Amino acid sequence: MAENNYVDTRGAVKEPVPFTEAVIEGLAPGGGLFVPQNIPTFSLDEIVSLADVPYAQRAARVYKAFGVDLPDETVDALMAQAYGDNFDDEAICPITSLDDKTHVLELWHGPTSAFKDMALQCLPRFFSASAKELRARGKLDHEFLILVATSGDTGKAALEGFKDQDGVKIAVMYPDGGVSDVQYKQMATQAGDNVMVWGVRGNFDDCQTGAKAVFGDAAFNERLMAEQKVALSSANSINWGRLLPQVVYYLSSYAQLVADGKLAAGQELDVCVPTGNFGNILAAYYAKRMGAPIGMLLCASNENRVLTDFINTGVYDISDREFVLTPSPSMDILVSSNLERQLFELTGRDSQAVAQWMDDLKREKRFRVDAGTFEKMRALYASDSVDSAACLDTIKRTYERTGYLLDPHTAVAFEVAERLRGENPVLVASTAHWAKFGEAVYRALYGIGLDEGLPAEVAALTGCELNALIERETGAAPVPAGLARLDEMPVRFTEVIDGTVDAIEGAVLSFCAS
Ligand SMILES: *Cc1c(COP(=O)(O)O)cnc(C)c1O
Repeated sequence: MAENNYVDTRGAVKEPVPFTEAVIEGLAPGGGLFVPQNIPTFSLDEIVSLADVPYAQRAARVYKAFGVDLPDETVDALMAQAYGDNFDDEAICPITSLDDKTHVLELWHGPTSAFKDMALQCLPRFFSASAKELRARGKLDHEFLILVATSGDTGKAALEGFKDQDGVKIAVMYPDGGVSDVQYKQMATQAGDNVMVWGVRGNFDDCQTGAKAVFGDAAFNERLMAEQKVALSSANSINWGRLLPQVVYYLSSYAQLVADGKLAAGQELDVCVPTGNFGNILAAYYAKRMGAPIGMLLCASNENRVLTDFINTGVYDISDREFVLTPSPSMDILVSSNLERQLFELTGRDSQAVAQWMDDLKREKRFRVDAGTFEKMRALYASDSVDSAACLDTIKRTYERTGYLLDPHTAVAFEVAERLRGENPVLVASTAHWAKFGEAVYRALYGIGLDEGLPAEVAALTGCELNALIERETGAAPVPAGLARLDEMPVRFTEVIDGTVDAIEGAVLSFCAS
């Protein structure tokens, strides 16, 4: 296996750390993000031949190339568990081609029907194995509690990923009354012996602020360690262990398109990604760096268009930007954390420049990259934003033209691909099954604006019933079993707590002691 260690984007890590430590630590000591010291490359042959083996083995090949300080057999075994029959399609992330030049990469065949599963079926297994390995090396002697604040989707995917993993418990907080019926039921019915779900009185911001305060409470963290031998961790989307699984599917898709005769080996493929925290599209960039013949990276934003403006002007500015709620909530974001890794790579790994820009962003709510960095970014990326009405219109138009239903996130990317595409075929990353966002899809299909009321008989339906109605009327891809049967599953978690630091800490302590 290749040797590789991890450095950080702000230059605080003087002694590069191995994969296991980067995964367990998540964030580098100075607030920077871990990146591999060396980016491995694959020849075109090596990429194309990924199609000869099942997805789990494709993932193992990529991991080994990046250098994982776990035995090869462990990597193979963990990948076989991560990408097995917990997905409802043998291909794991199959590609649906809508025409010769438009290929939809379906990243939602996992247990929660959202693309977060691609990483969160993988990271928790490597997290648990890394902790075990570091315990064996005498570098660690405690267990972990993953504490997650969620606006809906990430919480469920994290629960599914961490359930029944050794040495880890997971607790998820969501805003009580602030998530959809489907999202609530997905979390409240969660299986597993090491999981906990709390509703929080307040909105998502209250959840997130509460969680941050608990992470920042040194006395509480010491007490948790002393009394329970537990450390808090977030395993959030800036963890390298969540990014690396995403690199796999871009290499794998390229190989698959060649194997299926839809692409000539070596032919360029553009990639269009509905972007929030910049993790998914950054993974496509790393796949390109590894040697995949990827052309332009098309970055799709919704009305929260901070990334589109950045890519088009070189200025990242949130000083005067309102946070807009859209039908694609997982892209409603102002600070895109993973962009920091891209800036690090674009500057030729200039950690001083990155640290300066991140400091500017913190103090002045904006930063501007230098002309050279801007030029390099423009050579790689193009970007546009799609407003909510255009998003719903894209769902309707695409359904009428092809019979294929897009979820609102994928629709944003689909529309951007249509606007920005050149000669190359385009791979559109599809990040959620439509049934996760049934209400928005219903509005799109029936031309009901987001500010209009739904017909009373529709408003009275549960999320599952509404999805069943859409499925009947469109004949589109059936609702996955995990979503379709939610109304019948027993509810396990009903506790609602205050969003105060005291209340959350109390709940954490009693869960750890249980
Ligand atoms: C998380 C998410 C995104 C955004 O992905 P990033 O990696 O944060 O850019 C897009 N769509 C859906 C459905 C998501 O859950």
